[in-house]
Amino acid sequence: MKKTIALSAAIILTGTVMAQKKINQDSLVKEAAKTEFWEPVPKLVTPGKTNSDAPTDAIILYNGKDVSQWQKEKGGQPGWKIDKDGALTVVKGSGNIATKQGFGSCQLHIEWREPAAIAGASQTRGNSGVFFMGSYELQVLDSYNNPTYVNGQAGSIYKQHVPLVNACKKPGEWQSYDVIFTAPTFFSDGKLQSPARITVLHNGVLVQNNVEIKGHTEWIGQPKYTAHSDKEPLILQDHGLDGGNPISYRNIWIREL
Ligand code: MG
Repeated sequence: MKKTIALSAAIILTGTVMAQKKINQDSLVKEAAKTEFWEPVPKLVTPGKTNSDAPTDAIILYNGKDVSQWQKEKGGQPGWKIDKDGALTVVKGSGNIATKQGFGSCQLHIEWREPAAIAGASQTRGNSGVFFMGSYELQVLDSYNNPTYVNGQAGSIYKQHVPLVNACKKPGEWQSYDVIFTAPTFFSDGKLQSPARITVLHNGVLVQNNVEIKGHTEWIGQPKYTAHSDKEPLILQDHGLDGGNPISYRNIWIREL
């Protein structure tokens, strides 16, 4: 008899504890829900086969077939050539090329190859560049065993920020930049409201970590900002007849942010 009473008491007690636990759990869930957001739901994007391949919401700027997204900086058919392997190669002296479309803040993927045949040294060895909004240069250079001023080597924001490391591959090998670029903003009177910022991965290695761009890229003198529109063309540099060999590009895509 005593045993039965004890057992019943134990069952009741267990039930009470469980009910209390449930109440506690319910109140925790309610409390947690106060900091949960269910909307807006991020739109679906299907990633590429590899992280180098364009996701579904990217604009393809060059896929090895045509230069329909590009023109000369001041208009007209680009002077660069498409090789048999689909690479887009600079024709030295033909001028920079610019996207027909303007872009502001963006994510950019671009692949580039320094010529295997080395010519020139320092800044004349495979010099090109990616100019965001036509103004802010992420340097492209053969910096594999090629000393130059460090704020002008590959991965630098030219004359502004030295890359964190040198992640260059050998000349003749394809390399990549993956970039997050935040556009500058300007007040209506043209004064700078917020500077541009940039993060760069070179061959998957972080070389610029959300650094502040100081203004329009300058070869001589200090950079400064001049107001421009919200969207400007992306420009690829032809460094001209400098004695170096021409570099090539492929697989260029961009996502507007
Ligand atoms: Mg350059």
